Amino acid sequence: MVHCSRKNFMIETKTMLTNPYAHAKFLKSASRAEQLPADTGYEVAFAGRSNAGKSSALNCLTGIRQLARTSKTPGRTQLINVFTLADEARRLIDLPGYGYAKVALQVKHDWQKNLAHYLDVRQSLRGLVLLMDIRHPLKELDQSMINWALDRQLPVHILLTKADKLGRSIVQNTVVQVRRHYELMQDFITVQAFSSLKKQGVDELILMLNKWMALEPLS
Ligand code: GDP
Repeated sequence: MVHCSRKNFMIETKTMLTNPYAHAKFLKSASRAEQLPADTGYEVAFAGRSNAGKSSALNCLTGIRQLARTSKTPGRTQLINVFTLADEARRLIDLPGYGYAKVALQVKHDWQKNLAHYLDVRQSLRGLVLLMDIRHPLKELDQSMINWALDRQLPVHILLTKADKLGRSIVQNTVVQVRRHYELMQDFITVQAFSSLKKQGVDELILMLNKWMALEPLS
């Protein structure tokens, strides 16, 4: 996992006061949608294949190492982890990573059912941040996630992670290609490059989250 120090994070976003995600706190883990907090307010979910860089990105966004560690705690990786912002009506939802080869088929099937059910029923869910390694974007399960989201007209913000692993022009080309793939759905699907290691793309992500969470833009 890549750690972003809070100090560096403050430098990029100018001041912590404008970063509502720096206040994220672990609330609970749930194995089913019924165990989640009351379905009111604003929620944004993070999803992606195992190893896509979700924990690192959450750590980078919030500057809280503990947050990412919580979602890696054995036994919690298959659960839906809920983090609240200062205002508990606004929540970040860490969905279980999918596509891990060593997981038994039955467990994989249960995850998929769980994820699909969560996306189907959750009224407070305003958007989905979908993380993909920029070197392997749009795998079959990623596209299934996008289709589930589109079925219920939920906007998806794609983070092409680990952008530091590629040169700038390949990064830009990949962003353009993924955008082009969903050109007809551009009102619902947005795409950006991201690197937790270099803290690249954090402000762009915050702007999107603020929009979904109905929070003020960064000053
Ligand atoms: P998760 O399984 O989706 O939560 O992924 P992790 O955040 O644990 O990251 C998986 C692996 O990718 C780890 O070895 C991380 O160190 C690495 N990683 C994550 N983000 C980045 C990044 O921005 N740049 C680079 N170079 N490696 C990263």
